[in-house]
Amino acid sequence: MPHRLLLLVLGVLLCVAARGAEPALKAVQVADRVWFVQGEAALGSPANRNFISNAGFIVTDDGVVVVDALGSPTLANELLAEIKRVTPQPVRYVIVTHYHADHIYGLQAFKAAGATVVAHSAGREYLNSDTAQKRLEASRQELAPWIDKDTRLVTADRWLADEQTLLRVGSYDIVIRHVGPAHTAEDLVVFVPQLGVLFSGDLFFRGRIPFVGQADSRLWIASLERLIDYKPRLVIPGHGPVSTDPMADLVLTRDYLVHLRRTMGEAARNLEPFEEAYARADWSRYEGLPLFRAANRMNAYNTYLLMEQEGK
Ligand SMILES: [Zn+2]
Repeated sequence: MPHRLLLLVLGVLLCVAARGAEPALKAVQVADRVWFVQGEAALGSPANRNFISNAGFIVTDDGVVVVDALGSPTLANELLAEIKRVTPQPVRYVIVTHYHADHIYGLQAFKAAGATVVAHSAGREYLNSDTAQKRLEASRQELAPWIDKDTRLVTADRWLADEQTLLRVGSYDIVIRHVGPAHTAEDLVVFVPQLGVLFSGDLFFRGRIPFVGQADSRLWIASLERLIDYKPRLVIPGHGPVSTDPMADLVLTRDYLVHLRRTMGEAARNLEPFEEAYARADWSRYEGLPLFRAANRMNAYNTYLLMEQEGK
C-alpha cells in the first residue's frame, strides 16, 4: 500500500517538523503555591501545537486546582507532568474559565487523571452547539496531529449557576466568580484571597490585543471594573505574561474596548461604511501591540456590527 505508506511518512515528517518547532511547556512559579504555563502570542498552528493559551495551578495542602486545560491533550499531559514535578498531590479540580477551543481541548487528559471539571452552566449552550462541533472538525484538520479524531469536547462534572461559588480545598478558599456574559456567556474568574492571585481567563490581556469575537464589549467593560474590586496583587491572564501591575493592564484592555466602541459606534450612527471608518480611526496607541494585525480589523468589524445592533 504505497499510498498509505506515503501518508505515514508524511505524517511522521509533519510530527518531527512540528516537534522541532514546539515551544517548551514549562511551569513557572509566580506566587506562593501558584504556577503557570504561558502559551505563545500566536494563532493556533501545528507548529505551536495550539499552545496559545495559558493555564495555571494552585498547590493546596489537599490536592491541586488547575485553571484551564490548554489547547490539546498532549499539552495537558505535559502540564500534568509539570504538576507531578512540583507535587505528588493529585489534581482535584480543573476550572474552565470559558469554553473556547484553545482552553479546553486538553480537558480529557485531566478527566483521565481523575480531576473534577468545573465550569459555568452558561457554557452548556456552546458545548452542545453546532458551532462547537464544527470548530472541533475544523481543528482536526488545521491542528493535526495534535487535535485528531480522539480529541473530544468534555462536559463539566459540576456546572455552576451562582454568581459566586466558594470552593474550599485544603486550607485555601478558591473564589469562583461568574463575570459573563463578557468575552463569553460563561466567563469565570478564579480568585485566591489568601494569595492575592486572580486568574482572569480571557477578560484581561496583558500587552496584546484581545480577540473580541462575538463578545458584548459593554458587558465586558463592566466585568473589567469588577475585577478591579478584588485588588489582586497578581493576575494570571488567559493569554500572555502574568501581570504584577494589574491595574495598568486592566485599564489598557478596558480603554481598547472603549476605543473600539467609540470609533465604530460613531461610524454606525453616521451610516459610514466600515472600511472608511476603519481607515480613518486612530489606532496609534494599539498598533504596536502583539496580534494587532491578526485581531484588530476583525475586532473593529464585530464592534461595528454590534454598535449597529445597539443603535436599533
Ligand atoms: Zn483564549
